[in-house]
Amino acid sequence: MSRNTELFERACQTIPGGVNSPVRAFRSVGGTPRFIKRAQGPYVWDAEDTQYIDYVGSWGPAILGHAHPEVIRAVQEAAIDGLSFGAPTEAEIEIAEAIVARLPSIEKVRLVSSGTEATMSAIRLARGFTGRSKIIKFEGCYHGHADSLLVKAGSGMLTFGNPTSAGVPPEFIKHTLVLDFNRLEAVEEAFKQHGSDIACIIVEPIAGNMNLVKPQPGFLEGLRSLCTQYGALLIFDEVMTGFRAGPQGVQGLTGIAPDLTTLAKVIGGGMPVGAFGGRADIMEHIAPLGNVYQAGTLSGNPVAVAAGLVTLKLLAEPGFYDRLAEQNRKLTEGLAQRAAAAGVAMSTDYVGGMFGLYFSESVPTSFAEVSACNVERFNKFFHGMLIRGVHFAPSAFEAGFISGAHDDAVIAATLEAAEEVFAKL
Ligand code: PMP
Repeated sequence: MSRNTELFERACQTIPGGVNSPVRAFRSVGGTPRFIKRAQGPYVWDAEDTQYIDYVGSWGPAILGHAHPEVIRAVQEAAIDGLSFGAPTEAEIEIAEAIVARLPSIEKVRLVSSGTEATMSAIRLARGFTGRSKIIKFEGCYHGHADSLLVKAGSGMLTFGNPTSAGVPPEFIKHTLVLDFNRLEAVEEAFKQHGSDIACIIVEPIAGNMNLVKPQPGFLEGLRSLCTQYGALLIFDEVMTGFRAGPQGVQGLTGIAPDLTTLAKVIGGGMPVGAFGGRADIMEHIAPLGNVYQAGTLSGNPVAVAAGLVTLKLLAEPGFYDRLAEQNRKLTEGLAQRAAAAGVAMSTDYVGGMFGLYFSESVPTSFAEVSACNVERFNKFFHGMLIRGVHFAPSAFEAGFISGAHDDAVIAATLEAAEEVFAKL
């Protein structure tokens, strides 16, 4: 029995499904997850010391490549001074200042420990600030696992949604309206019917949890103007896209300013850090200044903040994002060309350091189109690449991530493996 299989069987004895986050279990692609022992730059090594080129990137944080020496050093140095104080630190001010300086829509920011906490807190704040209950989210966008967000669309366009998880009482989601990403007419209709009750729209401004789906021209602009018109808040969930899609996230690419932004992943550099921030007049409604409660024992943890700070510093080096996007272009165009040469229907898209691979003729623009991609083909592609030493995300519906350590040789090795795999699809 392989060491990975042995570990997986052992893990399943004490950990539900053998994993601490469901997508890691390879349920949708089949087979046994690789147990990772260590990682460096663009590579990870599993329990059998097999090396893989990694396009999971810890699901987003590893934008500098794994175990960047400066990040590791910062963590080691911070750890020597103590792991957690439950009191404010100077480093927390520094990371808040770095975020505020780079994202013009953020005037004040609070740190938490995960993306889930960031979105959950931002929504509570939006409700507390507006005094309204209803929220709008889009099918296929994921915002973490807070109860009110585990919802899929109901049967009719403007019916309230159904829970996507057992344990979420229908009463908890009766204020969550689930609409189609990229369909502005539905949002307009929702505001016409419920405008004075809608606290906020939460959206991944580039969706990265239904593969990669970009907003159509006018969609985000439309959300912005509807929110302004009806007095609702616009929340950009940039947990994935923040400092990943570009140096200022999607808000920098589009010039659209949300009222609140949620962040995580990259800002922790691989350690548990999340954040939510935005207009000062809104943020001042949080405790201890205001009556919207939010707190955390490990919020602003000094070791985690040290990793995030040095990551943000390294990302500010001139040319980082241009190089990242250029490598991503080479990867995604190279894959599309090789698929086409082999007669495989595949399309690709990318932005900054994230990409989408779709087994479909064209790049999807909606949840329905993403859902129609050929999952069986993806699964074959995934395993073909894995046995050739290239680790993509183990699901047809996840975005891929590239890092500053994915150099030309790494891309070339990936494309060579893909050529062999496409020939067999
Ligand atoms: N929002 C988005 C856009 C995400 O991609 C994720 C995680 N993939 C979350 C929120 C939740 O973050 P976390 O897993 O850190 O709770």
